[in-house]
Amino acid sequence: MIDFPKARLKMVEEQIVSREIRDPRVIAAMKKVPRHLFVEEALQSQAYSDHPLPIGEKQTISQPYMVALMTEALQLAGKEKVLEIGAGSGYQTAILAELAEKVYSIERIRSLAIKARQLLYELGYFNVEIKIFDGTYGWLEESPFDAILVTAGAPDIPQPLLDQLAMGGRLVIPVGDAFVQDLIRVTRSGEGIKKEDLGGCRFVKLIGKFGWDDE
Ligand code: SAH
Repeated sequence: MIDFPKARLKMVEEQIVSREIRDPRVIAAMKKVPRHLFVEEALQSQAYSDHPLPIGEKQTISQPYMVALMTEALQLAGKEKVLEIGAGSGYQTAILAELAEKVYSIERIRSLAIKARQLLYELGYFNVEIKIFDGTYGWLEESPFDAILVTAGAPDIPQPLLDQLAMGGRLVIPVGDAFVQDLIRVTRSGEGIKKEDLGGCRFVKLIGKFGWDDE
């Protein structure tokens, strides 16, 4: 039997804290959410390893460090309304649900959305809503959002997401080609839009109207 809680604490020390993730709330959430439940049983022994893992439908659950980095970049204090594009396994959704008031997440692949929804409900995350749709349109009825996180790589920042970002809000999104991207943080303030490059990353494609074409 694998001691999952122990593996999780080790993951947080060796992959998160040692790589300069500082936000104590992000660290606490990473210590708490049972990541191994978000992958299939055969992969559970690798759930706390330092890399992404397949979740079916040619998609992946992101590397733990990347989840921590993106989450920290959103600067969540607890009261935010958050939009996530790409629920996938629902792991990142759970981390956001720990740190914000309400999380709206969009996933284009039905089977993944249904599985994530079920698991998050079983784990008691009642502040999450998952919709099956093309997330590049955002979620207009629930906008504006204090924070928006895109967990798939985009050719450009989808305009609807910029439009649905609240004043003072943060949008974090991988932007680049189909193979490598830069993690970009957009902050909206009274002076307009500020963009920062948080470093290189590698994500599956954001497929949709304001993303890549479906191949
Ligand atoms: N955050 C997820 C990562 C999943 S990988 C996790 O922790 O497991 C990225 C996900 O984005 C995939 O599930 C993919 O189907 C989804 N995706 C890609 N383009 C999308 C779009 N336009 N709208 C919604 N979801 C999209």
